[in-house]
Amino acid sequence: MRQLPGVLIVEDEPAIAELIAVNLRHNGFRPVWAMDSATAQCELDAVLPDVILLDWMLPGESGLSLAKRWRASPRTKGVPIIMLTARGDEIDRVAGLDAGADDYIAKPFSTKELLARVRAVLRRRAPEQVGGLVTIGGLSLDASTYRVTFVEQLLKLGPTEFKLLNYFMTHAERVHSRSQLLDKVWGDHVFIEERTVDVHVKRLRESLGPIAGQMIETVRGAGYRLTGKVVTALPAKSDA
Ligand code: CA
Repeated sequence: MRQLPGVLIVEDEPAIAELIAVNLRHNGFRPVWAMDSATAQCELDAVLPDVILLDWMLPGESGLSLAKRWRASPRTKGVPIIMLTARGDEIDRVAGLDAGADDYIAKPFSTKELLARVRAVLRRRAPEQVGGLVTIGGLSLDASTYRVTFVEQLLKLGPTEFKLLNYFMTHAERVHSRSQLLDKVWGDHVFIEERTVDVHVKRLRESLGPIAGQMIETVRGAGYRLTGKVVTALPAKSDA
């Protein structure tokens, strides 16, 4: 089951935060409120949200500085950030986007507009989750029908192995660290040991079989990679 998308609201004004949270909750999101930068950081360390709504003017560290920091951190750099700002002028807009924000919304805003912006950043991020048919070196995965085949032979995969393979196939030939895989495939890695990744990679290789299993390479000291290059000789199809 897919969880409701999580939204971290970083906003020091309780009335605004409450208004946003109520609207998000009514529209199928899971809002979490942090009233300052330290609380926001604690929330991010615990659970990665799907979107961050970040107020520009915060007591202590500013929203702009937080956006820069979160963009630079490997753990948080993939999380879309929408800046909330009372300053609507051009220069601030650019500063916000330069700091790594995906979008910005000027106060006062309508909740309708806010929801539209949140949905838009989620959609932009969605292709890797929606997927479709991907084929690499004889291995095919159809995310819409949950079918995986290798040279037209149907393979049986557990749900985690399927998600893992889907991620590998849509990001092939790139090395992924265990912690990146935990973030991307499991969603939140705080309570899961990195060794869990090794266990599921082993199961995935077993499910793929001796030939396609070799496509999942262990990159020493770095992580794992799916490559189509190792499968040089596909098993011959029988003529019968
Ligand atoms: Ca504020």
